[in-house]
Amino acid sequence: MSKRNTNCSIKSHFIRTAIEEDKATGLTPHIVMRFPPEPNGYLHIGHAKSICLNFGLSKNYGGKCYLRLDDTNPTGENITYVEAIKANIKWLGFEWDNEPRYTSDYFGKLYAFAEQLIEKGLAFVCELTPAQMRDYRGSLTAAGSNSPWRDRSSAENLTLFREMKSGQHAEGRYVLRAKIDMASPNMNMRDPVMYRILHQNHYRTGDEWCIYPTYDFSHSLCDALDGVTHSLCSLEFEDHRPLYDWFVQHVHTAHNPRQIEFARLHLSHTVLSKRKLKKLVASGKVCDWSDPRMPTLEGMKRRGYPPVAIRRFCDAIGVAKTDSIVDLALLEHEVRSELNKSAPRVMAVLDPIRLVITNYPPEQEEELSMPKYPNECNSNERRSFTFTHDLYIERSDFHRDPPAKYKRLAVGRWVRLRGGYTVHCDDYTTDDDGRVREVHCHYDPHSLGVKPDGYKVHGVIHWVAKHTAWSAEVRLYEPLFLEEDADFLSEPTLNPHSMRILSDCQLDPSLKEAQGSFQFERLGYFCADSGLSSGGKKIFHRIVALQARTK
Ligand code: ATP
Ligand code: MG
Repeated sequence: MSKRNTNCSIKSHFIRTAIEEDKATGLTPHIVMRFPPEPNGYLHIGHAKSICLNFGLSKNYGGKCYLRLDDTNPTGENITYVEAIKANIKWLGFEWDNEPRYTSDYFGKLYAFAEQLIEKGLAFVCELTPAQMRDYRGSLTAAGSNSPWRDRSSAENLTLFREMKSGQHAEGRYVLRAKIDMASPNMNMRDPVMYRILHQNHYRTGDEWCIYPTYDFSHSLCDALDGVTHSLCSLEFEDHRPLYDWFVQHVHTAHNPRQIEFARLHLSHTVLSKRKLKKLVASGKVCDWSDPRMPTLEGMKRRGYPPVAIRRFCDAIGVAKTDSIVDLALLEHEVRSELNKSAPRVMAVLDPIRLVITNYPPEQEEELSMPKYPNECNSNERRSFTFTHDLYIERSDFHRDPPAKYKRLAVGRWVRLRGGYTVHCDDYTTDDDGRVREVHCHYDPHSLGVKPDGYKVHGVIHWVAKHTAWSAEVRLYEPLFLEEDADFLSEPTLNPHSMRILSDCQLDPSLKEAQGSFQFERLGYFCADSGLSSGGKKIFHRIVALQARTK
């Protein structure tokens, strides 16, 4: 197995350059970073990019990285998500420093900061309705206008803000706004909202608060309170940076974090937004957040993606300042190369038909063997399997009327049974509906492990002995959406073939008690599920095929 390396790659990029500059000037000798998910859903592969960057970079520079649950919005947040987030980060291979932090732990401090700004004349309580506020805000080409409530005295603002806090007002009646500049070319600086009234129970603070801080206000100040030196966030917050800096500058805190933006990950044929993923779950289009088709870390874990492959993928895609779509094939490539080393080989037949060897005595059987890890030079472990006269082979490995270039079994041809003898097809039988039922062959008893002399072998096929095989359910996957740019579309088309269930596959007996991932020879990499199918059978998920998909 590969040694776990959770350091960020040494590839240079603008975030590294910024950190190194700040270290060189002595501005931030000790690097502190954070990963700040909102506990309103499960983490997805986009979050993995952010996790690898924050945890990886801080570790690289001998610094710290905190986990801070950004829980300022009581709607939709809950402890189940918090626990899943923690478990997913650990599964990915990272550890946060100290105890997890919660923005809600800072509600008291944030409230005091808000009063500080009111006292300095830098925040005011506003009564405009949301629609009025939009009108007053102006547009990208026209300056906004000052709210009629902008010039209240600090004392009056304080009284109203305290009333808001003590629950005397209905939702939407008042908001607290920063007093910055309604003519600023940056819309985010036009007196943004800092607090709104929400009479909602918070999963941690219960009914203690009925006013909740906004992201812009709380995020910058929590970063400052946590002593964060470099606060990485995605590109859409670039225009929020002046506001981030404004809060840090006007509130008295000991630290001045630096916000640096990078492009979000978009992965082809899937969506990376908790809102959209939630919709998929709610509509029943996938089973749940851990459905193996989901781009969530839960889904990828269940599907059998090795965490090291996800880390390598995040490393390989690098960081940029412009949005782009990364091909799912790149992630699958990393998964495949890891499993190629670590997954033991085994044979399984997904769509079985019988192959009877007419010149092999029915009462006879023999043990054959092959390497378990053919690509691991340090391992000479072998796996054994039984050879008898009655086998299962893949329906697609026999053809009644073989097309040109068909490299498998047909009447009059020899093929090699993988790890075993060569067999020659003599004839076949069919069911009443005309489907092939049994293929009849004779075998060459001198062909085991040697190149046959005097006849041509049309390929190698996999098989399992009928009496040792056992039936399981295998699920094959394709990308969730048909469109490559699904993440940018409001209604992408669900791929009708995103999951195909094969309910009577015949597997090698060693897979009965199996856990973990395997290469089913010629078919791909598969992972055992911990649950059973509705028919009571063990389930295997195809993690990835052996070859990259052709577009
Ligand atoms: P979503 O739209 O999925 O809800 P979010 O940004 O609102 O995403 P958060 O829980 O707030 O989700 O994100 C935590 C961190 O993960 C943030 O720093 C965010 O920038 C980062 N992040 C989220 N999605 C991506 C992505 N697709 N690529 C890179 N980083 C991401
Ligand atoms: Mg968010």
